[in-house]
Amino acid sequence: MNLWNRLMCTCRRRSPWLFHMNSGSCNGCDIELVASLTPRYDAEQLGVRLEGSPRHADILCITGPVTRNAVGAIQTVYGQVCGPKAVVAIGSCPATTNVFIDSRTLDGPLNKHIPVDVFVPGCPPRPDAIIQGVAKAAQILAERGNNPPIADAAPQVVGSGATECACNECKEVQP
Ligand code: SF4
Repeated sequence: MNLWNRLMCTCRRRSPWLFHMNSGSCNGCDIELVASLTPRYDAEQLGVRLEGSPRHADILCITGPVTRNAVGAIQTVYGQVCGPKAVVAIGSCPATTNVFIDSRTLDGPLNKHIPVDVFVPGCPPRPDAIIQGVAKAAQILAERGNNPPIADAAPQVVGSGATECACNECKEVQP
C-alpha cells in the first residue's frame, strides 16, 4: 500500500462518515443511533459524522427487518456509497428479521442482499454498542484498504447484546 492509500485508511479509521438507512424499522434502533450522536454519548467526538448523502459516506448503517419494498433501495444506496465501504446492521431485525420472521412483507435478513461487515444485535441495541459497531467497521475499512469485501465473509458481531429480543432467532447472533 502506498503512502496516499495509507493516509486515506488512517483518515477513514479516525473519522468515519455514516449514512443511515431505515429498511422498515419500528424506529427504536433509529432513535438509539441518533442518541449515539448526541452529547451524552458523543460519537462525533470520535470523528463519527452522519452524512446526508450515501456518496459522501464510508459506512452504511441499516436498521429494520428489510421489507420487500426496501430491497431495491438498499441495493441502490449500497451502490451509491463509494468504495471502500463497510456495512453495519443495527439491531436484531436486519440480522434475523427478529419478531417479524414470519411476515410475508419481509425479505430479510440483510446479508442476503448486500455484504454485511458488522452486526450490532439487540432490540434495540444501546448507543454505546452502536458506537462499538461503527468503530469495528472503521477498523475493518482501514485493514481492508482499497480491496473489496470478501464474498461470504462472516460478519463480526459486537455489543453486549444485553437488550434481548423476544424471539429465539436473535440469540444465535448475540455474543
Ligand atoms: S431490532 Fe427491535 S427496536 Fe430495532 S427495528 Fe427491530 S423491532 Fe425495532
